[in-house]
Amino acid sequence: MSNQLEERLTFYGGLTTIGGVHIMYSCGDTGFVFDLGMARSFFNGDTRVQPDYGIRSFLLTRVAPPVLGLYDPLLLGDLGEAELLQVWGKEELPQVAKLHGFVSHIHQDHMALLPSLRPNLPVWMHRDAYALHKAVVAAGEYPDTQAEIRLVEDGQTVDFGTFQVEFIEVDHDSPGVTGFIIHGPQYRIAFTADWRRHGRNHHRLDRFIERCQIAGVDVLITEGTRLRPDTLFRKPKDRLEVEVAVECRNAMQQTDGLVYINILARNVERVADLIIRTQEAGRQLVMDESTAVLWHEASRKLLVLEGHPALEADREVIRLLHTPLWSQGPHPTVEVKLPYSTITLQEIAADKSHYAVYLTYPHTPLIAELETSGTERGGSVYVHADGNPLTPSDEILLKWLTEFGVKYHYCATGGHAAPQEIAELTAAIAPRVVVPLHSLHPTLFNSKGVHKCFPAPGDSFKLSELVGSPTPITL
Ligand SMILES: [Zn+2]
Ligand SMILES: [Zn+2]
Repeated sequence: MSNQLEERLTFYGGLTTIGGVHIMYSCGDTGFVFDLGMARSFFNGDTRVQPDYGIRSFLLTRVAPPVLGLYDPLLLGDLGEAELLQVWGKEELPQVAKLHGFVSHIHQDHMALLPSLRPNLPVWMHRDAYALHKAVVAAGEYPDTQAEIRLVEDGQTVDFGTFQVEFIEVDHDSPGVTGFIIHGPQYRIAFTADWRRHGRNHHRLDRFIERCQIAGVDVLITEGTRLRPDTLFRKPKDRLEVEVAVECRNAMQQTDGLVYINILARNVERVADLIIRTQEAGRQLVMDESTAVLWHEASRKLLVLEGHPALEADREVIRLLHTPLWSQGPHPTVEVKLPYSTITLQEIAADKSHYAVYLTYPHTPLIAELETSGTERGGSVYVHADGNPLTPSDEILLKWLTEFGVKYHYCATGGHAAPQEIAELTAAIAPRVVVPLHSLHPTLFNSKGVHKCFPAPGDSFKLSELVGSPTPITL
C-alpha cells in the first residue's frame, strides 16, 4: 500500500568527524533524525557557548543539523531557512511535517543538542540512556531538555506510521547505547551507533548482526572511529573493559601512597566495578559532589546495574569531598541527599594508604594539596582510564604529575571497534551499501567488497538512488 512513499536519507554531520552524526531518514511526511549531539570542531574549552542559547552559533557553523523543526523557536530568534540554505550552500533542504529525534547514547557527540530542542519534540532513547541523562543533568554537566523523551527497550519495535524502527542495544562505554533497523516500506536501514567488541556486553553485537541478517539490511551505517592509517593493518589488542577496574585495584594494592583515579563518570558500569575493586583493596573512594550525584542518581535507575553489589557497598566505600569553590568543573544543580559520609583533604592526606581519590580533570590542582601535606611525599599513582583529557600525552596533566612525583598509569580502553571488527560486522550483515562515518578517515575502510558510500555534507538521496531497486522481502 505504501509503495508510493518516497524513502530518503539526508546526511549532514559526522561524515568526517568523530561524532556529531546527523542523518535524517524521511518517508512520506515523517522524519527520523539521528543522533542529536555535536562534534567539537568550532568549540573548545575557551571558545564555547551555552548549549541552550548557543544553537544559533551551532547552526551557523553546521555543527547542528539544519532541520529547523527540531529546535526551540525562542532560541532560534530570527534565524531561518534562508540563512541555513546559505551556510549549507543548498537550494533546498528536506523538511517534513512530523519530526522525531533519536539519541543513541549519552556522550556529548550524540546528545549535546538536547537542551536546544523544541518543547514536546518526540525524542526516542533507551531507558538506561535516559536514566543517565537525568543523572548528568542533576550533576550539573548539562542543562535539561524540553523535548518529550520517549523510552524504548532493547528489542522493541516502534511504529511511526509510514515505517517501523526496531531498537537494538549494542555495547559501548556508556549505558543504554542503542542502534536500530528502520523497516521502511521498501528498504531496511541499519545504524550501529557507537560500538565495540571488547566490552562486557559484546554478545549484543552478535544479536545486532543476526537481526540485520533477518531483516535483509540494504544500507548499513556504522561508526569508524578507529579507522586510521596506523591501525589499518595491525589488529590492536584491546584491554577488556572488565580489566580496567582490576588494574585500578592492583594499583591500590601495590602502593602505600594515594591512588588517583580518572574515569569518565558516565561509564557507570565501570564506576560500579571500581567501587567493588576499591573495597577489595581495603580503601575508600573519595568523590567530589558532582561525580557522587551522577553515580547515585544513575546507579539506582539503570536496568543494567540491577543487583550489582556496588549498590549495597557504596555507602561504605564512597566518601564525599566538597567540591572546591574554585572548581571549573560541574556543580550539582539539584539538592540530592547523598548517603555518603564526608571527608576533608586533611583527613585524606593524613592516611593516604586508605583512600583512592576519584579525580576529574578540573580538580587536578588538588594533587598539590594532597601531595604536600600529611604522610610523606611520593608513592602516589594516577590511574587514567578514559576520563578527560582523552590522551596519555596531555601536557598540563603530565606536568602536575611530574611536579609532585605521582606515577602515571594509563589504562584506557575505548568504546570503539577496531577496523578489522568493523569489516567483519559489515561482511556478516552483507548490506548492499555501507556508509562508514563518525570517523576522520572513512575512506580507509576495508568493507570486504561491500559497496561503500561516502556522502558529502548535505547530500540527500532517494533510497533507490543509493542502493538501486528494492530487494524483495522474503517471508
Ligand atoms: Zn560517538
Ligand atoms: Zn560514544
